[in-house]
Amino acid sequence: MSRVRDNIDMYRRLCVECGTCREVCPSYNHGGCDPLAVMRGEYRRVFDCVGCGSCSRACEHTNPKIVMMAAYSIVLDTPVSQAFLDTGYSRYPAADAPGADLEPVWDGEEVCVMPGCVAKCVVPYVVYAASSGLRGMGAKACELPDFTCCMYPIQFGTMQDEERVGYIRRMGETAGGREMVNLCGGCTEIMNRHGVECRHLIPFLQDRLDSLPRIEGRLKVSVEPGCAAVEHADEMTDIVRAMGCEPVGNEPGCCGKNSRNVAKPLMDERQEAARDADVIVVGCPMCQSKYDSVPGGKPVMHLAELLAAAFGDRRSLECHTIPVPDF
Ligand code: SF4
Ligand code: SF4
Repeated sequence: MSRVRDNIDMYRRLCVECGTCREVCPSYNHGGCDPLAVMRGEYRRVFDCVGCGSCSRACEHTNPKIVMMAAYSIVLDTPVSQAFLDTGYSRYPAADAPGADLEPVWDGEEVCVMPGCVAKCVVPYVVYAASSGLRGMGAKACELPDFTCCMYPIQFGTMQDEERVGYIRRMGETAGGREMVNLCGGCTEIMNRHGVECRHLIPFLQDRLDSLPRIEGRLKVSVEPGCAAVEHADEMTDIVRAMGCEPVGNEPGCCGKNSRNVAKPLMDERQEAARDADVIVVGCPMCQSKYDSVPGGKPVMHLAELLAAAFGDRRSLECHTIPVPDF
């Protein structure tokens, strides 16, 4: 069976070269990647694509983001990492990662939480907060046993289709019909694309607005679901409002991820969008790690941490680089 990078001709053939993807691309607008050129076959123009998906949301004909990810795979030709072979995660969990010493406390098996590699390996305090917050709600949740990477990272583009999809489907089988909740929008996107039923924490909480704890004091919040969960921005706004916070009304955007040349201007835009907020609330572990490393940046927390803190557990917030104010 073919690899991801061999599968893109179908998507490219449907392109009518209208240029809409280029117009909406935040990376292109800062001198980064050029999605139209990539669709024309100039794969090296993909560098600095942040995988935000704005191109695919705007395109009426095909799915340029899938082509961008495959183009990265072609030009980088990254083999599957030793970390994945050893651990099942796309990277090694760092022993000194903030919150690595916080042991999540799960209290049931009705809901399976799939943290994703970034939460597990880079900001494990988010996983702790998810266990604490969901326990506060009485959700009876556990961590999805033996979960692996969702297979989104570029390295998996060099893996055979059958093997890659096998990892994804196995996680669905492990959930075995129980509700599966993701802390990362990228995991949700790719697992749904391969037929595994799961959803992001945002719609899970939005279905339970009456069970959410309330925060006193009208905390001003900038809502940033992250690129892969941006369609949940309104639901996330409902959640923070139901918890007694005041959304500042910003348009959500991309944190810039690990991009070499556009990460800074994109993050500068996010910080400016959050200027009236006391804190940024994100729906993505990668965003959490990026916002929390901006020198002089606005305090930030993952939605799971807002939930845990509203139930009185602020332990995860103590792991941050940028102090989160009391609320
Ligand atoms: S990928 Fe879509 S938006 Fe971009 S040029 Fe092709 S048809 Fe237009
Ligand atoms: S995924 Fe985002 S950064 Fe990449 S080409 Fe599409 S719009 Fe641009």
